[in-house]
Amino acid sequence: MRNWAGNLEYAAASATRPESVEELAELVAGAARRGERVKALGSRHCFNDIADTGGVHIVLDRLPSAVELDAARRVVRVPAGLTYGALGAALEREGWALHNMASLPHISVGGAVQTGTHGSGIASPALAAAVTAIELVRASGEPDRLSAADGEEFLGSVVGLGALGIVTALELAVEPSYQVRQQVFEDLPWEAVLTDFDAVAGDGYSVSLFTDYAGDTVAQAWRKVRVVADAGEGAAPSSFFGAVPAQRPRHPLPEMDAGNCTQQLDVPGPWLERLPHFRHEFTPSAGDELQTEYLLPRARAAEALRAVRALAARLAPLLYVSEVRTVAADEFWLSPSYRQDSVALHFTWRPLQREVESVLPELEAALAPFGARPHWGKLFAVPPATIAALYPRFEDFRRLVAERDPAGVFRNAYLDRILG
Ligand SMILES: Cc1cc2nc3c(=O)[nH]c(=O)nc-3n(C[C@H](O)[C@H](O)[C@H](O)COP(=O)(O)OP(=O)(O)OC[C@H]3O[C@@H](n4cnc5c(N)ncnc54)[C@H](O)[C@@H]3O)c2cc1C
Repeated sequence: MRNWAGNLEYAAASATRPESVEELAELVAGAARRGERVKALGSRHCFNDIADTGGVHIVLDRLPSAVELDAARRVVRVPAGLTYGALGAALEREGWALHNMASLPHISVGGAVQTGTHGSGIASPALAAAVTAIELVRASGEPDRLSAADGEEFLGSVVGLGALGIVTALELAVEPSYQVRQQVFEDLPWEAVLTDFDAVAGDGYSVSLFTDYAGDTVAQAWRKVRVVADAGEGAAPSSFFGAVPAQRPRHPLPEMDAGNCTQQLDVPGPWLERLPHFRHEFTPSAGDELQTEYLLPRARAAEALRAVRALAARLAPLLYVSEVRTVAADEFWLSPSYRQDSVALHFTWRPLQREVESVLPELEAALAPFGARPHWGKLFAVPPATIAALYPRFEDFRRLVAERDPAGVFRNAYLDRILG
Protein backbone atom coordinates (compact mmCIF):
# COMPACT_ATOMS: atom_id res chain seq x y z
CA MET A 1 0.00 0.00 0.00
CA ARG A 2 1.21 3.51 -0.82
CA ASN A 3 0.48 6.94 0.64
CA TRP A 4 -1.81 9.35 -1.23
CA ALA A 5 1.06 11.07 -3.03
CA GLY A 6 2.50 7.71 -4.06
CA ASN A 7 6.01 8.72 -2.95
CA LEU A 8 6.08 6.14 -0.15
CA GLU A 9 5.42 2.43 -0.25
CA TYR A 10 4.57 1.41 3.29
CA ALA A 11 6.78 -1.26 4.82
CA ALA A 12 3.89 -2.68 6.88
CA ALA A 13 3.68 -6.46 6.76
CA SER A 14 -0.13 -6.33 6.68
CA ALA A 15 -3.16 -4.18 7.45
CA THR A 16 -6.05 -5.15 9.66
CA ARG A 17 -9.52 -3.65 10.05
CA PRO A 18 -11.06 -4.19 13.48
CA GLU A 19 -14.85 -3.95 13.64
CA SER A 20 -15.11 -2.90 17.27
CA VAL A 21 -13.04 -1.12 19.91
CA GLU A 22 -12.90 -4.45 21.81
CA GLU A 23 -11.38 -6.17 18.77
CA LEU A 24 -8.92 -3.31 18.36
CA ALA A 25 -7.97 -3.53 22.06
CA GLU A 26 -7.31 -7.29 21.62
CA LEU A 27 -5.18 -6.63 18.57
CA VAL A 28 -3.02 -4.06 20.35
CA ALA A 29 -2.71 -6.14 23.53
CA GLY A 30 -1.71 -9.18 21.44
CA ALA A 31 0.92 -7.19 19.54
CA ALA A 32 2.27 -5.84 22.85
CA ARG A 33 2.55 -9.38 24.27
CA ARG A 34 4.43 -10.59 21.20
CA GLY A 35 6.70 -7.51 21.18
CA GLU A 36 5.32 -6.40 17.79
CA ARG A 37 4.59 -2.93 16.53
CA VAL A 38 1.28 -1.56 15.26
CA LYS A 39 0.32 1.80 13.75
CA ALA A 40 -2.96 3.52 13.01
CA LEU A 41 -3.30 4.48 9.37
CA GLY A 42 -5.62 7.38 8.58
CA SER A 43 -6.41 8.55 5.05
CA ARG A 44 -2.70 8.21 4.02
CA HIS A 45 -2.25 11.90 3.21
CA CYS A 46 1.14 12.38 4.89
CA PHE A 47 4.14 12.78 2.63
CA ASN A 48 6.75 11.27 4.95
CA ASP A 49 7.00 7.99 6.87
CA ILE A 50 5.12 9.21 9.99
CA ALA A 51 2.33 6.67 9.31
CA ASP A 52 4.58 3.81 8.25
CA THR A 53 5.40 0.76 10.33
CA GLY A 54 7.47 -2.38 10.08
CA GLY A 55 4.61 -4.07 11.96
CA VAL A 56 0.90 -4.08 11.27
CA HIS A 57 -1.22 -1.17 10.02
CA ILE A 58 -4.55 -0.70 11.75
CA VAL A 59 -7.25 0.88 9.60
CA LEU A 60 -10.30 2.14 11.47
CA ASP A 61 -12.85 2.30 8.66
CA ARG A 62 -14.88 -0.64 10.01
CA LEU A 63 -15.31 0.76 13.52
CA PRO A 64 -18.81 2.08 14.30
CA SER A 65 -19.21 5.22 12.20
CA ALA A 66 -21.99 7.10 14.03
CA VAL A 67 -21.55 10.86 14.46
CA GLU A 68 -23.14 11.80 17.79
CA LEU A 69 -24.15 15.41 18.22
CA ASP A 70 -24.77 16.87 21.67
CA ALA A 71 -26.37 20.20 20.81
CA ALA A 72 -26.79 21.22 24.45
CA ARG A 73 -23.05 20.89 25.12
CA ARG A 74 -22.16 22.06 21.60
CA VAL A 75 -19.92 19.07 20.93
CA VAL A 76 -19.91 16.20 18.49
CA ARG A 77 -18.40 12.73 19.03
CA VAL A 78 -16.68 11.61 15.85
CA PRO A 79 -15.09 8.28 14.84
CA ALA A 80 -11.37 8.96 14.30
CA GLY A 81 -11.31 7.42 10.82
CA LEU A 82 -14.07 9.68 9.45
CA THR A 83 -13.01 12.33 6.93
CA TYR A 84 -13.62 16.02 7.55
CA GLY A 85 -15.75 16.06 4.39
CA ALA A 86 -18.11 13.38 5.72
CA LEU A 87 -18.17 15.00 9.15
CA GLY A 88 -18.91 18.42 7.65
CA ALA A 89 -21.87 17.04 5.69
CA ALA A 90 -23.27 15.33 8.82
CA LEU A 91 -22.92 18.51 10.88
CA GLU A 92 -24.40 20.77 8.22
CA ARG A 93 -27.48 18.54 7.97
CA GLU A 94 -28.11 19.28 11.66
CA GLY A 95 -27.29 22.99 11.39
CA TRP A 96 -23.82 22.88 12.98
CA ALA A 97 -20.28 23.69 11.92
CA LEU A 98 -16.59 23.47 12.78
CA HIS A 99 -14.38 26.52 13.22
CA ASN A 100 -12.22 25.72 10.19
CA MET A 101 -11.18 23.14 7.62
CA ALA A 102 -7.91 22.22 5.88
CA SER A 103 -7.53 22.85 2.14
CA LEU A 104 -8.66 19.29 1.36
CA PRO A 105 -11.69 17.69 3.10
CA HIS A 106 -10.64 14.11 2.33
CA ILE A 107 -8.29 13.75 5.31
CA SER A 108 -9.25 11.73 8.39
CA VAL A 109 -10.08 13.59 11.60
CA GLY A 110 -7.83 11.33 13.71
CA GLY A 111 -4.82 11.59 11.40
CA ALA A 112 -5.20 15.33 10.81
CA VAL A 113 -5.46 16.16 14.52
CA GLN A 114 -2.49 13.93 15.43
CA THR A 115 -0.23 15.92 13.06
CA GLY A 116 -1.45 19.44 13.91
CA THR A 117 -3.21 20.03 10.58
CA HIS A 118 -4.60 23.54 10.07
CA GLY A 119 -6.52 25.82 7.74
CA SER A 120 -5.96 29.57 7.54
CA GLY A 121 -7.12 32.57 9.58
CA ILE A 122 -5.43 35.05 11.86
CA ALA A 123 -7.88 34.25 14.66
CA SER A 124 -8.37 30.61 13.72
CA PRO A 125 -6.25 27.96 15.45
CA ALA A 126 -5.36 24.51 14.05
CA LEU A 127 -8.09 21.86 13.71
CA ALA A 128 -6.90 20.27 16.97
CA ALA A 129 -8.15 23.35 18.84
CA ALA A 130 -11.71 22.04 18.46
CA VAL A 131 -10.87 18.84 20.35
CA THR A 132 -12.45 18.61 23.80
CA ALA A 133 -11.80 14.89 24.38
CA ILE A 134 -10.10 11.89 22.78
CA GLU A 135 -10.83 8.20 23.22
CA LEU A 136 -7.90 5.93 22.59
CA VAL A 137 -6.62 2.38 22.95
CA ARG A 138 -3.35 2.40 24.89
CA ALA A 139 -0.26 0.26 24.22
CA SER A 140 -1.48 -2.15 26.90
CA GLY A 141 -4.72 -2.62 24.96
CA GLU A 142 -6.73 -0.69 27.55
CA PRO A 143 -9.27 1.86 26.34
CA ASP A 144 -8.79 5.32 27.82
CA ARG A 145 -10.38 8.76 27.53
CA LEU A 146 -8.71 12.13 28.00
CA SER A 147 -10.57 15.42 28.13
CA ALA A 148 -9.66 19.02 28.76
CA ALA A 149 -10.29 18.27 32.46
CA ASP A 150 -7.20 16.02 32.40
CA GLY A 151 -5.09 19.15 31.91
CA GLU A 152 -1.47 18.61 31.02
CA GLU A 153 -1.74 15.06 29.66
CA PHE A 154 -4.60 16.11 27.39
CA LEU A 155 -2.48 19.00 26.06
CA GLY A 156 0.38 16.59 25.42
CA SER A 157 -1.72 13.95 23.69
CA VAL A 158 -4.09 15.63 21.23
CA VAL A 159 -1.32 16.41 18.72
CA GLY A 160 0.42 13.14 19.54
CA LEU A 161 2.07 11.99 16.27
CA GLY A 162 0.35 8.64 16.69
CA ALA A 163 2.72 7.84 19.56
CA LEU A 164 0.36 7.65 22.53
CA GLY A 165 -2.39 5.31 21.42
CA ILE A 166 -4.82 4.52 18.66
CA VAL A 167 -7.47 7.21 18.77
CA THR A 168 -10.88 5.65 18.19
CA ALA A 169 -13.07 8.74 18.62
CA LEU A 170 -12.74 12.47 19.24
CA GLU A 171 -15.13 14.97 20.75
CA LEU A 172 -15.05 18.29 18.90
CA ALA A 173 -16.54 21.68 19.72
CA VAL A 174 -19.15 22.82 17.22
CA GLU A 175 -20.92 26.09 16.55
CA PRO A 176 -24.10 26.97 14.66
CA SER A 177 -23.68 26.61 10.91
CA TYR A 178 -22.56 29.74 9.07
CA GLN A 179 -22.20 30.93 5.50
CA VAL A 180 -18.95 31.98 3.87
CA ARG A 181 -18.19 33.93 0.71
CA GLN A 182 -14.99 33.15 -1.16
CA GLN A 183 -13.33 35.46 -3.63
CA VAL A 184 -10.01 35.14 -5.44
CA PHE A 185 -7.95 38.25 -6.22
CA GLU A 186 -5.07 38.37 -8.65
CA ASP A 187 -1.74 40.20 -8.73
CA LEU A 188 -1.43 41.34 -5.14
CA PRO A 189 1.59 43.66 -4.90
CA TRP A 190 4.35 42.13 -2.73
CA GLU A 191 4.88 45.60 -1.32
CA ALA A 192 1.44 45.50 0.32
CA VAL A 193 2.15 42.06 1.80
CA LEU A 194 5.57 43.01 3.13
CA THR A 195 4.52 46.43 4.43
CA ASP A 196 1.64 45.20 6.57
CA PHE A 197 1.33 41.43 6.50
CA ASP A 198 -1.21 41.34 9.33
CA ALA A 199 -3.53 43.75 7.52
CA VAL A 200 -3.53 41.55 4.40
CA ALA A 201 -3.75 38.20 6.23
CA GLY A 202 -6.35 39.54 8.64
CA ASP A 203 -8.68 41.00 6.00
CA GLY A 204 -11.17 38.14 6.10
CA TYR A 205 -11.96 35.06 8.20
CA SER A 206 -9.42 33.07 6.21
CA VAL A 207 -6.84 34.41 3.76
CA SER A 208 -4.42 32.32 1.67
CA LEU A 209 -1.78 33.73 -0.66
CA PHE A 210 -0.56 31.62 -3.59
CA THR A 211 2.83 32.55 -5.00
CA ASP A 212 6.04 31.34 -6.61
CA TYR A 213 7.89 34.17 -4.80
CA ALA A 214 9.13 35.64 -8.13
CA GLY A 215 8.12 39.01 -9.59
CA ASP A 216 6.48 42.01 -7.96
CA THR A 217 3.09 40.48 -7.24
CA VAL A 218 1.59 37.50 -5.45
CA ALA A 219 -0.36 35.57 -8.11
CA GLN A 220 -3.55 34.91 -6.09
CA ALA A 221 -5.10 35.87 -2.75
CA TRP A 222 -8.02 33.68 -1.65
CA ARG A 223 -10.24 35.59 0.76
CA LYS A 224 -12.99 33.85 2.70
CA VAL A 225 -15.34 35.97 4.79
CA ARG A 226 -18.09 34.84 7.12
CA VAL A 227 -21.49 36.18 6.15
CA VAL A 228 -22.92 38.13 9.04
CA ALA A 229 -26.60 37.32 9.42
CA ASP A 230 -28.97 40.23 8.71
CA ALA A 231 -26.13 42.47 7.54
CA GLY A 232 -27.13 42.13 3.87
CA GLU A 233 -24.78 40.79 1.27
CA GLY A 234 -23.25 44.07 0.15
CA ALA A 235 -21.23 44.45 -3.01
CA ALA A 236 -18.23 42.22 -3.66
CA PRO A 237 -15.06 44.24 -3.01
CA SER A 238 -13.51 45.54 -6.22
CA SER A 239 -9.94 45.39 -4.95
CA PHE A 240 -7.81 43.73 -2.25
CA PHE A 241 -4.75 45.79 -1.30
CA GLY A 242 -4.20 46.55 -4.99
CA ALA A 243 -5.11 43.05 -6.27
CA VAL A 244 -8.02 42.71 -8.69
CA PRO A 245 -10.93 40.25 -8.44
CA ALA A 246 -10.60 37.18 -10.67
CA GLN A 247 -13.28 37.24 -13.37
CA ARG A 248 -13.69 33.45 -13.41
CA PRO A 249 -13.08 30.61 -10.93
CA ARG A 250 -9.39 29.95 -10.40
CA HIS A 251 -7.27 26.96 -9.39
CA PRO A 252 -4.17 27.79 -7.31
CA LEU A 253 -2.12 26.54 -10.27
CA PRO A 254 -2.87 28.90 -13.17
CA GLU A 255 -2.72 26.12 -15.78
CA MET A 256 -5.19 23.86 -13.92
CA ASP A 257 -8.95 23.78 -14.38
CA ALA A 258 -10.88 25.18 -11.40
CA GLY A 259 -13.58 22.48 -11.63
CA ASN A 260 -12.35 20.70 -8.49
CA CYS A 261 -12.12 23.96 -6.48
CA THR A 262 -14.83 25.18 -4.14
CA GLN A 263 -17.22 27.90 -5.33
CA GLN A 264 -15.63 31.35 -5.63
CA LEU A 265 -16.75 34.70 -7.09
CA ASP A 266 -18.10 35.83 -3.70
CA VAL A 267 -21.14 33.54 -3.85
CA PRO A 268 -22.28 32.75 -0.28
CA GLY A 269 -22.51 29.10 0.71
CA PRO A 270 -22.16 26.76 3.67
CA TRP A 271 -18.86 26.81 5.59
CA LEU A 272 -17.91 23.26 4.49
CA GLU A 273 -18.21 24.21 0.81
CA ARG A 274 -16.06 27.34 1.10
CA LEU A 275 -13.38 26.87 3.79
CA PRO A 276 -11.59 23.98 1.99
CA HIS A 277 -10.09 25.02 -1.35
CA PHE A 278 -11.07 21.71 -2.94
CA ARG A 279 -14.50 20.13 -3.34
CA HIS A 280 -15.40 17.05 -1.34
CA GLU A 281 -17.29 15.51 -4.30
CA PHE A 282 -14.04 15.50 -6.27
CA THR A 283 -12.01 12.62 -4.86
CA PRO A 284 -8.38 12.62 -5.86
CA SER A 285 -7.16 9.07 -5.20
CA ALA A 286 -3.54 10.05 -5.69
CA GLY A 287 -1.60 13.22 -6.24
CA ASP A 288 1.37 13.98 -8.43
CA GLU A 289 2.87 16.33 -5.90
CA LEU A 290 4.94 16.56 -2.74
CA GLN A 291 4.44 18.99 0.11
CA THR A 292 6.53 20.79 2.72
CA GLU A 293 5.40 23.39 5.26
CA TYR A 294 6.95 25.50 8.03
CA LEU A 295 5.22 27.49 10.76
CA LEU A 296 6.95 30.46 12.37
CA PRO A 297 5.93 33.53 14.40
CA ARG A 298 3.50 35.67 12.43
CA ALA A 299 5.24 38.78 13.69
CA ARG A 300 8.24 37.75 11.54
CA ALA A 301 6.22 36.93 8.41
CA ALA A 302 7.58 39.75 6.26
CA GLU A 303 11.21 38.92 7.12
CA ALA A 304 10.65 35.22 6.42
CA LEU A 305 8.89 35.95 3.12
CA ARG A 306 11.81 38.16 2.07
CA ALA A 307 14.20 35.33 2.89
CA VAL A 308 12.24 32.86 0.74
CA ARG A 309 11.88 35.37 -2.10
CA ALA A 310 15.67 35.52 -2.23
CA LEU A 311 15.57 31.79 -3.10
CA ALA A 312 12.85 32.12 -5.77
CA ALA A 313 15.11 31.20 -8.70
CA ARG A 314 16.45 28.15 -6.84
CA LEU A 315 12.92 26.94 -5.97
CA ALA A 316 11.34 27.66 -9.36
CA PRO A 317 12.25 24.41 -11.18
CA LEU A 318 10.70 22.32 -8.38
CA LEU A 319 7.80 24.43 -7.17
CA TYR A 320 4.23 24.13 -8.40
CA VAL A 321 3.08 26.83 -6.01
CA SER A 322 3.51 28.01 -2.42
CA GLU A 323 0.63 28.90 -0.10
CA VAL A 324 1.00 31.41 2.73
CA ARG A 325 -1.54 31.04 5.54
CA THR A 326 -1.93 32.11 9.17
CA VAL A 327 -2.74 29.98 12.22
CA ALA A 328 -3.66 31.25 15.68
CA ALA A 329 -1.79 29.93 18.72
CA ASP A 330 -2.94 26.90 20.72
CA GLU A 331 -1.81 25.03 23.82
CA PHE A 332 -0.97 21.55 22.46
CA TRP A 333 2.65 20.70 23.27
CA LEU A 334 3.59 19.45 19.81
CA SER A 335 1.35 21.70 17.77
CA PRO A 336 3.49 23.64 15.27
CA SER A 337 1.52 26.71 16.39
CA TYR A 338 2.07 25.98 20.11
CA ARG A 339 1.76 29.30 21.99
CA GLN A 340 2.60 31.16 18.78
CA ASP A 341 0.39 33.10 16.41
CA SER A 342 1.93 31.74 13.24
CA VAL A 343 2.41 32.23 9.56
CA ALA A 344 2.58 28.94 7.65
CA LEU A 345 4.69 28.77 4.49
CA HIS A 346 3.54 25.79 2.46
CA PHE A 347 5.25 24.46 -0.69
CA THR A 348 3.58 22.18 -3.24
CA TRP A 349 6.45 20.59 -5.15
CA ARG A 350 6.67 18.69 -8.40
CA PRO A 351 6.98 14.95 -7.71
CA LEU A 352 10.78 15.02 -7.82
CA GLN A 353 11.62 13.70 -4.38
CA ARG A 354 15.42 13.59 -4.66
CA GLU A 355 15.63 17.13 -6.03
CA VAL A 356 13.14 18.43 -3.46
CA GLU A 357 15.08 16.80 -0.64
CA SER A 358 18.25 18.43 -1.89
CA VAL A 359 16.71 21.93 -1.81
CA LEU A 360 15.09 21.58 1.63
CA PRO A 361 18.27 22.23 3.67
CA GLU A 362 18.76 25.56 1.84
CA LEU A 363 15.15 26.55 2.41
CA GLU A 364 15.36 25.49 6.04
CA ALA A 365 18.62 27.42 6.54
CA ALA A 366 16.82 30.55 5.26
CA LEU A 367 13.95 29.97 7.70
CA ALA A 368 16.03 28.81 10.68
CA PRO A 369 16.51 32.34 12.10
CA PHE A 370 12.72 32.48 12.58
CA GLY A 371 12.47 29.21 14.52
CA ALA A 372 10.47 27.54 11.73
CA ARG A 373 8.70 24.37 12.86
CA PRO A 374 8.09 21.82 10.08
CA HIS A 375 4.63 20.33 9.52
CA TRP A 376 4.84 16.84 11.05
CA GLY A 377 3.19 15.16 8.06
CA LYS A 378 5.12 16.76 5.19
CA LEU A 379 8.68 16.45 3.86
CA PHE A 380 11.40 18.16 5.91
CA ALA A 381 15.10 17.78 6.64
CA VAL A 382 15.35 19.65 9.98
CA PRO A 383 17.52 17.51 12.33
CA PRO A 384 15.66 15.94 15.28
CA ALA A 385 17.73 17.86 17.85
CA THR A 386 16.75 21.16 16.20
CA ILE A 387 13.10 20.16 16.19
CA ALA A 388 13.24 19.25 19.89
CA ALA A 389 14.66 22.70 20.67
CA LEU A 390 11.78 24.37 18.83
CA TYR A 391 9.19 22.92 21.24
CA PRO A 392 9.36 24.07 24.88
CA ARG A 393 7.45 20.94 26.02
CA PHE A 394 9.36 18.44 23.87
CA GLU A 395 11.04 16.72 26.82
CA ASP A 396 7.68 16.39 28.56
CA PHE A 397 6.28 14.77 25.41
CA ARG A 398 9.20 12.34 25.28
CA ARG A 399 8.55 11.42 28.93
CA LEU A 400 4.83 10.99 28.28
CA VAL A 401 5.50 8.61 25.37
CA ALA A 402 7.98 6.59 27.45
CA GLU A 403 5.43 6.34 30.26
CA ARG A 404 2.43 5.45 28.07
CA ASP A 405 4.19 3.18 25.59
CA PRO A 406 7.25 1.80 27.39
CA ALA A 407 7.69 -1.15 25.00
CA GLY A 408 7.34 1.00 21.88
CA VAL A 409 4.27 -0.71 20.44
CA PHE A 410 3.35 2.46 18.50
CA ARG A 411 6.91 3.35 17.58
CA ASN A 412 8.13 3.44 13.99
CA ALA A 413 11.28 4.66 12.24
CA TYR A 414 9.91 8.25 12.18
CA LEU A 415 9.25 8.33 15.92
CA ASP A 416 12.57 6.62 16.64
CA ARG A 417 14.30 9.44 14.71
CA ILE A 418 12.28 12.28 16.22
CA LEU A 419 12.11 11.05 19.80
CA GLY A 420 15.43 9.22 19.93
C1 LIG B 1 -3.69 17.28 -0.94
C2 LIG B 1 -3.35 17.50 0.51
C3 LIG B 1 -3.76 18.67 1.11
C4 LIG B 1 -3.42 18.91 2.46
N1 LIG B 1 -3.85 20.08 3.03
C5 LIG B 1 -3.44 20.37 4.28
C6 LIG B 1 -3.85 21.58 4.90
O1 LIG B 1 -4.60 22.36 4.34
N2 LIG B 1 -3.37 21.85 6.13
C7 LIG B 1 -2.51 21.01 6.78
O2 LIG B 1 -2.08 21.32 7.90
N3 LIG B 1 -2.17 19.82 6.25
C8 LIG B 1 -2.62 19.49 5.02
N4 LIG B 1 -2.26 18.29 4.47
C9 LIG B 1 -1.52 17.34 5.30
C10 LIG B 1 -2.49 16.42 6.01
O3 LIG B 1 -3.50 17.13 6.65
C11 LIG B 1 -1.77 15.62 7.10
O4 LIG B 1 -0.78 14.90 6.47
C12 LIG B 1 -2.72 14.72 7.90
O5 LIG B 1 -1.99 14.07 8.89
C13 LIG B 1 -3.41 13.72 7.03
O6 LIG B 1 -4.24 12.89 7.80
P1 LIG B 1 -4.32 11.34 7.43
O7 LIG B 1 -5.46 10.77 8.12
O8 LIG B 1 -4.23 11.15 5.97
O9 LIG B 1 -2.98 10.85 8.12
P2 LIG B 1 -2.07 9.57 7.85
O10 LIG B 1 -1.02 9.96 6.86
O11 LIG B 1 -2.86 8.38 7.52
O12 LIG B 1 -1.43 9.44 9.32
C14 LIG B 1 -0.75 10.52 9.90
C15 LIG B 1 -0.35 10.22 11.33
O13 LIG B 1 -1.51 10.15 12.15
C16 LIG B 1 -1.55 8.91 12.80
N5 LIG B 1 -2.93 8.50 12.92
C17 LIG B 1 -3.85 8.42 11.96
N6 LIG B 1 -5.01 8.01 12.48
C18 LIG B 1 -4.79 7.84 13.80
C19 LIG B 1 -5.58 7.40 14.89
N7 LIG B 1 -6.86 7.08 14.72
N8 LIG B 1 -5.03 7.32 16.10
C20 LIG B 1 -3.74 7.64 16.29
N9 LIG B 1 -2.95 8.05 15.32
C21 LIG B 1 -3.47 8.16 14.09
C22 LIG B 1 -0.74 7.96 11.92
O14 LIG B 1 -0.28 6.84 12.65
C23 LIG B 1 0.37 8.89 11.51
O15 LIG B 1 1.29 9.01 12.55
C24 LIG B 1 -2.62 17.98 3.17
C25 LIG B 1 -2.23 16.79 2.56
C26 LIG B 1 -2.59 16.54 1.24
C27 LIG B 1 -2.19 15.26 0.60
